[in-house]
Order: sequence, then structure tokens, then C-alpha cells
Amino acid sequence: MSQDKLNYDSPASIQAFLEQNGLAVSKRLGQNFLIDRSVRSRIVKALEVEEGMQVWEIGPGIGAMTILLLEEKVRLTAFEIDYGFVRVLKGLFSEYENFCIVKGDVLKTLCSQKDLPARIFGNLPYNSAFAIISDILEMEILPQHMVFTLQKEAAHRMVAGPGTKDYSSLSVLCTSVCDVRILFDIGSSAFWPRPRVTSSAVQLIPKKKSMSALERKDFSDFVRAAFSSRRKTLRNTLRFWIKQRSPFLDEAKIDTQLQGILEELGIESSIRAEALAPDELFAIYRQLQSI
Ligand code: SAM
Repeated sequence: MSQDKLNYDSPASIQAFLEQNGLAVSKRLGQNFLIDRSVRSRIVKALEVEEGMQVWEIGPGIGAMTILLLEEKVRLTAFEIDYGFVRVLKGLFSEYENFCIVKGDVLKTLCSQKDLPARIFGNLPYNSAFAIISDILEMEILPQHMVFTLQKEAAHRMVAGPGTKDYSSLSVLCTSVCDVRILFDIGSSAFWPRPRVTSSAVQLIPKKKSMSALERKDFSDFVRAAFSSRRKTLRNTLRFWIKQRSPFLDEAKIDTQLQGILEELGIESSIRAEALAPDELFAIYRQLQSI
């Protein structure tokens, strides 16, 4: 089936296309195709692309979004793990010189890319969305603008504030590095096969005065350590993180210094990470650099 015969709005057409190409949908890889044309257009609009711009698409599937991006004449690099999809994508878009595809797990292929993008987009697989976003936020140079669709609950976790059940290390990392905004919800009927959950489109725009790549990576480790045990106080979780970084530091000295930093910042020593705002956690992280 050629590109003009494959109708991305029709489950029957997609199913026939997959069968003709000896392919099947994998639940494990989060393969739900976006069959609602108006939602696809809304996402492309939200991405604000311009002709010639370097754009990455994570998980193109069989190309429902890819074709729209290529029509915008961007230089598109797509990352797809499913080798069967890679094969059909190459066939479908062979005439586009502005298209290149990187096959394999994006969590492994992302770091070896040279042409860094101005935009990143992805209808992300539900089970690895967080890992993919974390890796992107640790990239050497961040794109100016990103749009992802993911499970609605996951989107809410990205923007959650301190003291709420959804607040996590990812909320801190995302909101410290970027201005994060939930753009709109996408009902399950917009996808085929139909998932059991609602999705949301989320926009991430790196803050103007953002951290360096090294600092982002290190802060991300720090935040993960701070949230590693919800039952433990921040002092306890951080003691372990400091010990790992500076194995020769005396435990008693670590404790005194940590206590001093919290006191200086006016933070109770019995506090847990989830009660602190992202900028308070960042202030502690900054102070700890001197230990
Ligand atoms: N973009 C298509 C669409 O909107 O119709 C498909 C989106 S589907 C939700 C997610 C896609 O991500 C699938 O094509 C799946 O094979 C791919 N995928 C899943 N895990 C991946 C990974 N670790 N690296 C790259 N692609 C992945």
C-alpha cells in the first residue's frame, strides 16, 4: 500500500497496511496511532516549526505525524525502535531528502546525535515517556521548544507542586529546567488501538537562564536521590548521595555540614523532599557544591 492509499484516520486502513507489511501492533512498545486528523494538526501548530528547522520526532510509528512535519519542510530526524516500522517509513517517505531515521531505542541512540534540534516532538509510548523526557532534559543543548503527548496523569505529574501526591523528582526537574504547560487533553478515541487512558499534549520551553548541561545532569541525580524514599527525611536521603560523591568524607562531618546548610536556608532539618519547592531544592543543591 502506498502513502496516498494509507489513510491515517482509518483504523481499517492502518490495519490493512500493517497486515500487508507483515506487521502487528505491540502493546509493550506503546503503539497507539493518532487517528484524529484535527488533533494531529493542533500538535503540529503547537510545535511552531519553520522551514529548514531541525526537528526530532520520537516514535514516528507508521508516520501519521511524520508526513505533516515533512510537509512543513523541516529537516526531520525520527527515532523508532520497531524495525518493521523503520522499514515501512523508509518506503513511505523515500522521496523526502529532508527525512532521516535513526533505528533503535531512543534512550540509546539519542546521545550519539550530532545535529541538535530546534524542536522535539513525540507521541510518547506510555511506559517509557518519563525516561525519554529525563534523557532529553539532560541533553548537551536543549531545543527551544518541545511538545509531547503522554498519559494525562503523567502530564499532571510533570507540573505538580510540592505537598501534592503527584509531586516527584520529575516534576522538580521539568519545572526547574523548563516552563511546562499542559496544552490540551486528547480523548482515547483519538487513538487506535484505543488506550484505556486519556492523554494530554504538554509543551516544554527551556527557561532563559537555564542550568548548564553538566549542572542539569547533576541536579537530576540530586533530585532523584532526594526523592528516593518518601519515608525518609531529606537529611537522610542526601547523606547517602553526598557519601557516594565524596566517599572519603567523614559521616559526622557530612551531617554537620548538611544541618548547617539547611539552617542557613531556613529549612527544618526534619523536612522531606516532597515538601520543598523546586527552587528550595535547587538552593540546597547549590550550597552542597561547597562540601
Ligand atoms: N507517532 C505515531 C502516531 O502518533 O501515530 C506513533 C506513536 S506510538 C504512541 C509510540 C511510538 O514510539 C511507536 O511507534 C513505538 O514503536 C515507538 N517507541 C516505543 N518505545 C520507543 C523507544 N524506546 N525508542 C524509540 N521509539 C519507541
